[in-house]
Amino acid sequence: MNEFDLRKFEDEAQEQWTHAFESNPSSLEKFYLTVAYPYPSGAMHVGHGRTYIVPDVVARFWRMRGKQVLYPMAFHVTGAPVIGISKRIANNDPKTIRLYRDLYKVPQNVLDEFTDPLTIVRHFASEYQRVMTACGMSIDWRRRFTTVDPTYSKFIEWQWKHLYDAGHVIKGAHPVRYCTVDDNPVGDHDLLEGDKAEVIRFTLVMFRFGDAFIPTATLRPETIHGVTNLWANPNVTYIRAMVDGKAWIISHEAAEKIALQDHTVEIQEEIAGKDLIDKTVSHPLCGTVPILPADFVDPDMATGLVMSVPAHAPFDYIALRDLQQAGKYAKIKPIPLIKVEGYGEIPAQDAVEKSGITHQMDSRMDALTQEIYSAEFSKGKVFDTYGGKPVRVARDDVAALMIEKYDSKIMYEFDNRPVICRCGNKVKVKILHDQWFLKYSDPLWKKQVSDQILDMSLVPPEVRLEFDRTVDWLKDWACTRRVGLGTRFPWDTTQLIEPLSDSTIYMAYYTIAHKIREIDAKLLTPEVFDYIFLGKESPDLPEKKKLDAMRKEFLYWYPYDYRFSAKDLISNHLTFQLFHHVTIFPKDKLPQGMVVFGMGLLNGAKMSSSKGNVFLLEDAVNDFGADTVRMFLMGSAEPWQDFDWRNELVISTKKQIERFYNTVSEIKDAKGEPHDIDRWLISRLQSHIERTTTALTNFQTRQALQEAYFGIETDLKWYRRRLPENSDGSRELHTLGSVWVRLLAPFIPFTGEHLWKQLAGEGLVSFASWPVANKKLVNTRIELAEELLTRTVEDIESIMKLIQITPKSITISIAPAWKYEIFLTIAKAQDKNTVIRDIMKDETMRKRGKAATDAAKQCTTLIHRLPPYVIEPLTRESIDEMNVFEEAKGFLEKEFGVPVHVTSAESSEHSKSATALPFKPAIIIE
Ligand SMILES: [Zn+2]
Repeated sequence: MNEFDLRKFEDEAQEQWTHAFESNPSSLEKFYLTVAYPYPSGAMHVGHGRTYIVPDVVARFWRMRGKQVLYPMAFHVTGAPVIGISKRIANNDPKTIRLYRDLYKVPQNVLDEFTDPLTIVRHFASEYQRVMTACGMSIDWRRRFTTVDPTYSKFIEWQWKHLYDAGHVIKGAHPVRYCTVDDNPVGDHDLLEGDKAEVIRFTLVMFRFGDAFIPTATLRPETIHGVTNLWANPNVTYIRAMVDGKAWIISHEAAEKIALQDHTVEIQEEIAGKDLIDKTVSHPLCGTVPILPADFVDPDMATGLVMSVPAHAPFDYIALRDLQQAGKYAKIKPIPLIKVEGYGEIPAQDAVEKSGITHQMDSRMDALTQEIYSAEFSKGKVFDTYGGKPVRVARDDVAALMIEKYDSKIMYEFDNRPVICRCGNKVKVKILHDQWFLKYSDPLWKKQVSDQILDMSLVPPEVRLEFDRTVDWLKDWACTRRVGLGTRFPWDTTQLIEPLSDSTIYMAYYTIAHKIREIDAKLLTPEVFDYIFLGKESPDLPEKKKLDAMRKEFLYWYPYDYRFSAKDLISNHLTFQLFHHVTIFPKDKLPQGMVVFGMGLLNGAKMSSSKGNVFLLEDAVNDFGADTVRMFLMGSAEPWQDFDWRNELVISTKKQIERFYNTVSEIKDAKGEPHDIDRWLISRLQSHIERTTTALTNFQTRQALQEAYFGIETDLKWYRRRLPENSDGSRELHTLGSVWVRLLAPFIPFTGEHLWKQLAGEGLVSFASWPVANKKLVNTRIELAEELLTRTVEDIESIMKLIQITPKSITISIAPAWKYEIFLTIAKAQDKNTVIRDIMKDETMRKRGKAATDAAKQCTTLIHRLPPYVIEPLTRESIDEMNVFEEAKGFLEKEFGVPVHVTSAESSEHSKSATALPFKPAIIIE
């Protein structure tokens, strides 16, 4: 055979699959699964591949188990990213052109059309469909839609009417992430970097400097009495600006930020940082402090100037100490003002010295700062001279006082930077007025979601904590944007509903997507959707017959059984969709389960389209075949674990499929009479069926492949070894082939269809019935006997390797019955520690003396070593070891090419016979 060509099977199967996976309500039990729909702004890579192949394997599995399965797909084209892309392409931005032309392989004539954003999403949506189909995804494509379809917009309007009526849509002023280039709030999806950054509220403490203020941002206004100096960066050029009519000295960056936060800013002149050094400022409460030089002060952090509290801030402490060690500013001493248990008089000094940190660039500085911050916040108390209050109370009191009497202002800033927009611009915090929000902060709404989470099946179970945490932390969400594609916001049509807010209940829309298209969008009033989804009658509903058909679809399919998505969507999409569901749908239509995926790596590094570190799914299919890609992605890790794509490993997966193909092709015509070993093979097959079924029921694709592929392959190898000479195997092999092909069909459906036909199976394997384990065919005794034989053969092989002589004979010496008695007593014992003492209470055992205690110890070790699937049946089923080896004598002699003797250890003269144990005979090679 030439190079094994999987592609041939792909064409064959595709022809038979057209329309095969279109799924309608039926009398069967349904299984409805959905995956987060893609945003088609680029080509699919193998990471996307896994996201959609896992649910496909699950869909195929349940279909074969006789359920009516629905796996739909649509495209999310809402938002601004493609608008940015089309602009950059129109401007001939070289990086964007390279990405689209070279990495995504968009033909030039298509690329030329990309100046229209809708063309981009339309192009990639059909690319997605083409590549998904090439990967064998069993999707009902009739239900495909995009989120800018007029009928979909009508559905979103209906959804928002319910949210609004429930009081969840509010208007207000709020600090939000904002991109000044796009002139738009920035959602999680629009970020290139910084998705973990949170908006933090700082208090600006105003120090007077001549006729101007120097504002410094702090999270700890209660430490104001401990300020010994300010820090300014001598290498930065600051500016003097009129802020709301008062002069401020701040960085350029700060001026831009402040202007976005309800202040008028007018820049007057530049001031060199070095000119500020050693000047003094008036402390807002009393006295003066100097401005000292510090390179670490970042002009892009808050105002670009910092107040220094060396007694309570490790950074300040070290920076001051460094200057003093260079002989400067010796007179400045830290001023402590907070007492905290576990720390000395000057907590920052204490913590720095204990940690052994000697330099401000030490990577542990952030952790140390956090440690002091938390300790002082949770158990610190301000000195009595300053009011004696706990820090947590004093902080808010001082902040309020400073704002009221001492000119302090609020400034919003990110806790972590950089935060970068998809367009490449730095994201800032802007206070938006007349901004619409979803009120996720509402405790009652949160409670409804928490209650629903309790009733859901979450895979893997440990993500439950992350869901709970997200619900807990979620704040109000800016839900409209000024720029982008999408549905107009009903209460302000200059705005659009943003992408994470129009993608929360579309799983319900799938159920009707192929039918609603037949109705004119203009007729789709909220009453129409109230009827379809909620069963609410109202007069004059249009197209009643069509609506009834849609209601039937919805009632059949909903609620969805499982939703699949990557774990980074827990903190937004996966939780948002629960909020929306609990508001709109009745209890019996709420989500039932979610499966959360790990991340994809490419040669050990995180996959990232924007960084070019991706391997395109279509290239993978062309290079290795769709089945190889599927089997590799499913077998290299469980869905919730991270997987790592490495071409060299993918090649070995292809070889596995080739071996499987060749084996099934060989055995399909096997006709011989069954031998003893056939009973073993078929018995083992039952447990592979059972374990594969359990694994797939639990979404463990890797575990399922271990059983279904490697488990059966290993058995077949042993089976062939054990066949009598001149035998090719029996007709049981045909049975095994039929089971094997079906167990692997969800993973490698193309090869599956081809082999199914070769085996003369009925119809498509995609719809063949999933194998069911037959307990009657399980023969524990035979399985144990073969297990014993396999282990003994392995033992003989390793001894032969060790002694390196040409053997003349092999003697297998079987343990005596009394050792069996000990072995079983220990194996069955609840308390393995006291069992040896109990055994030795028996008089006949005691008579054996040391031999018995030694045997008991050795049996204990052996029992620990043997797997449970050996020990457990051994306690129920006795096997006659002598008989097993007598029967296998011919086999062993053939394997090792020397005479084999089987003796009982008791009758053997050889000293080594004394080491024989149950399930581990002594082996004497001479
Ligand atoms: Zn931007």
